[in-house]
Amino acid sequence: MVTWTGEAEPGFPYWWEALKEIAEPEDCPLPPRVDLLVIGAGYAGLSAALAAQDCGATVAVVDSVRPGDGASTRNGGMFGAHPRLSWPRLAAQFGEETADALFAEAAPARAFVLDLIEREGIACDLQRTGRIQLAWARSHLESQKRLARDVRDKSEVEVETLDRAATTREIATERYFGGLLFPDHCAIHPAKFHRGLWAGAVDKGITVTANAAVTGYTREGGGFSVETLRGPVRADKIVLATNGYTPGFFRWHVARVFPLPSYIIATEELPSNLIGHLAPGRRMMVETRARHSYFRISPDGKRILFGGRASMRDIPLDLAARRQHVTMCEVWPELRDAKLSHVWSGNTGYSFTEMPHVGEDRGLHFAMGFSGSGTVMAPYLGAKAAFRAMGDARGETAYARTPFRRHWLHPTTTPHFLRAADLWYRSWVDTRDRMAGR
Ligand SMILES: Cc1cc2nc3c(=O)[nH]c(=O)nc-3n(C[C@H](O)[C@H](O)[C@H](O)COP(=O)(O)OP(=O)(O)OC[C@H]3O[C@@H](n4cnc5c(N)ncnc54)[C@H](O)[C@@H]3O)c2cc1C
Repeated sequence: MVTWTGEAEPGFPYWWEALKEIAEPEDCPLPPRVDLLVIGAGYAGLSAALAAQDCGATVAVVDSVRPGDGASTRNGGMFGAHPRLSWPRLAAQFGEETADALFAEAAPARAFVLDLIEREGIACDLQRTGRIQLAWARSHLESQKRLARDVRDKSEVEVETLDRAATTREIATERYFGGLLFPDHCAIHPAKFHRGLWAGAVDKGITVTANAAVTGYTREGGGFSVETLRGPVRADKIVLATNGYTPGFFRWHVARVFPLPSYIIATEELPSNLIGHLAPGRRMMVETRARHSYFRISPDGKRILFGGRASMRDIPLDLAARRQHVTMCEVWPELRDAKLSHVWSGNTGYSFTEMPHVGEDRGLHFAMGFSGSGTVMAPYLGAKAAFRAMGDARGETAYARTPFRRHWLHPTTTPHFLRAADLWYRSWVDTRDRMAGR
């Protein structure tokens, strides 16, 4: 049974507690005309704006709500990049040359964002904790060993395979058959990272306007006339950075990226010896089972944050909290009586390739489809989208060579298939994982 500390209302992310102490950058009136309009003020949009300004463009960023209230202040803060898919799957989808190039781009992507954090002087509790991908089943460990070989051969990303004994030195549970350790992966405070990007953009004279939802646009001459709730704006170019919150009138994009919710719970403050016992390695941790559980210790070292796919659709947060709590106690039964302080959710923007995409459709540049891994890839590809829009050579990326495909399961702009997918996952895939985990 879940009991609550009463520290926060359901829906209030743990990360937003820290934002109470950090001044919000000033809201800017929307100018009538800019070279580049960025729609969406998450990591991708703000990084796009900084990159376009570096090319000499006048830039405005609009968001439908408070900048950051999308996924960028709600995520798990696990920071690292290697392609989500194995090399053979990438090669089958995009060809061997592109698969090689995608693997090779992982280390430069991470370096780009670390440099951005340093250049902008963003205090976001960055810690080089390493990340472990925990093998739920013996067969998962075999695929992990193949992935480790490809990562070593084709990228500069460091990786180590862990056997079962080494894994139990990192996390106090017998649940996992082993794992992959990415020692260079980091932990960040996601909301502080976002707030730093937002403040950096405003300090440089970039207009960032809240509550300015784009409600429509028309192509005019070589550019665009855009309607927002804060008035019209004319722009030569647009970068669309709305990911899991993309509105339906961007029909081409919502046919290719769909919102998949992810849910996180935070425990009450726990005794430090209990945290040290549960997760002696103090790593970022993700599982290989389809439920996509990911968990970590909070930056102050006092709480466990446990995220995952409690559902593939929006469900009441008390139900999501109960499901996440059950999954957390499967890993750590010791937490059965721990109270919860927070539960919240956010939309990941999934693509049917499970890979991010950057490109252009009839003059509309975009970076989206981060498929749950966006702390590095969203700022990285946001900047790439802006460089490409400005015709700057720094826009070169293998991600622009991957076709952004639709799927026959999703013929309209509303992802009705998620209802069936949720049933499928909660019955067959969960049962399969349960049996494989024995
Ligand atoms: C719960 C959760 C946990 C996650 N954990 C991790 C993790 O640990 N590690 C990791 O790498 N990634 C993680 N992710 C993914 C990561 O957070 C995202 O990939 C990343 O934040 C995407 O950034 P973005 O800028 O593309 O989109 P967002 O931050 O979602 O921003 C999109 C913005 O577009 C705005 N918008 C939408 N429509 C309009 C409109 N009409 N007009 C103007 N603005 C509009 C929205 O208001 C929103 O602010 C997680 C995501 C979630 C939800």
